[in-house]
Amino acid sequence: MAELRLCPICRRPLEEGESARRFRPFCSKRCADVDLSRWLGGRYAIPAVEAEDEREAEGESSEPTERKPVSSAKH
Ligand SMILES: [Zn+2]
Repeated sequence: MAELRLCPICRRPLEEGESARRFRPFCSKRCADVDLSRWLGGRYAIPAVEAEDEREAEGESSEPTERKPVSSAKH
């Protein structure tokens, strides 16, 4: 039976190939770096592959209502 493995970071099927297998269980070096950064607590230094904290498309109800209007400029 074929076991389809997904990248724990971007949830994409792992590609077959020598170059891709080097980064197992991740699909690429980028995802490997992301996971490593998360462990180190410095994920903010890496461009977000997927925004976890800022999902505007989903969860609108949990959005904080502290958005300041930009109508009037300060000073
Ligand atoms: Zn990936």
